[in-house]
Amino acid sequence: MADLMENVVNLCKRRGFIFPSAEIYGGFRSTYDYGPLGVLMLRNVREAWWKSMVQCRDDVVGLEAAILSPPAVWEASGHLGAGFADLLVECRSCNTRHRQDHLDDPDKCPSCGSTGTFTEPRAFNLMFKTHVGPVASEDAVAYLRPETAQGMFLNFANILQTTRKKPPFGIAQIGKSFRNEITPGNFVFRTREFEQMELEYFVPPDDGPKWYEYWCEQRFNWYVDLGIAPEKLRLRPHDADELSHYSAGTSDVEFEFPFGWGELEGIAQRTDYDLKQHAAASGEKLEYFDQATGERYVPFVIEPAAGATRTMMTFLLAAYSEDEVEGETRTVLRLDPRLAPYKVAVLPLSKKDTLTPLAREVLARLQSNFMTDYDETQSIGRRYRRQDEIGTPFCVTVDFDSLEDKAVTIRDRDSLEQVRVPIDALVTELRDRLTV
Ligand code: ATP
Repeated sequence: MADLMENVVNLCKRRGFIFPSAEIYGGFRSTYDYGPLGVLMLRNVREAWWKSMVQCRDDVVGLEAAILSPPAVWEASGHLGAGFADLLVECRSCNTRHRQDHLDDPDKCPSCGSTGTFTEPRAFNLMFKTHVGPVASEDAVAYLRPETAQGMFLNFANILQTTRKKPPFGIAQIGKSFRNEITPGNFVFRTREFEQMELEYFVPPDDGPKWYEYWCEQRFNWYVDLGIAPEKLRLRPHDADELSHYSAGTSDVEFEFPFGWGELEGIAQRTDYDLKQHAAASGEKLEYFDQATGERYVPFVIEPAAGATRTMMTFLLAAYSEDEVEGETRTVLRLDPRLAPYKVAVLPLSKKDTLTPLAREVLARLQSNFMTDYDETQSIGRRYRRQDEIGTPFCVTVDFDSLEDKAVTIRDRDSLEQVRVPIDALVTELRDRLTV
């Protein structure tokens, strides 16, 4: 589909998944707001990640660390140095700025076509700087975190003490990160404010390679399990010159976007770099000590780092399809039910006073179990299409027979199959169909 990206962006706006931020003021530089459906779907993306990374394991615990942090953290982590800066050139002719590593031709401005007009490259640090407290002095400087990872290293000792975990064990966090990206774009693929889902997994040093393989496989499979076709995904090991300053090996899970292959997640072997840096800079011991054996070491870290917002867009792109039903084209999001904003929609056949009380009773029964939509406007066909377009896996129709037989019809988004189910059995029936 040539204009898949455009179709998804339009759908997001039209149906309330994602809006450009501050739109009434003309928008604000590639920032976005998640609308009523987007907020539901983003929660589901987080929930699917959390379930697989935390809930279904006994070796991973959660954390929600602060977003504001002092310069010392970023000096130790390397983010205030050259490692987290992009090289920026400016065109003297049209004054546009470009990332040097993104230029196809290092001499030619992609905006105005001039050649030989670039300034010398200068390092541009990607962190957002601010001041904490009423005085904007140098000692009040703070940064918005550019990744969630450092919070896990800073709390390593706290978590060892409070949970009594021993390597191999992990700390997981979902939250916002901020990077002053020079070239944001491709909708929410690259934004300056975004959300990450990261795990820091601490292992005995010799076991690093084994766990790296393990996490590469686990993370690749997570996307497949949630419905992305494996041929649209690949696991790409970084070349030596691409590796971050701390990494002994990184692979990216990539998806074939309409604009080319792009990263969904990086799985990095961070070695003992971060714990050692913070131990040296803070003077605190950041190591594991086994009281039983007397063994003491600084664990190695494997980090699967994914983006929640980028991944949500990917699930939308992968789910978007158009097919023909009863001679009409329908747009359908074939989202895995776990990701769909609404699991079910209750649709009274017509907006008659006689049907509304029963339809509302069905709604009330479902609402405490599933995220449920209710729609009684327009024709039933139009309402099915509207639910298909936002990926709702099941519609429940309440009709005039329902008043007599106390049963309703469930319609399946993908197979279009319809079955009659007693209202008393509806929750169980839907739960069976939704549980995977
Ligand atoms: P890129 O090469 O795309 O800039 P990165 O390698 O710097 O990404 P990481 O630091 O590994 O990214 O971050 C982990 C994940 O966080 C990425 O795989 C991506 O899903 C997400 N992410 C990073 N930067 C952004 C951004 N600006 N907007 C949206 N998501 C992002």
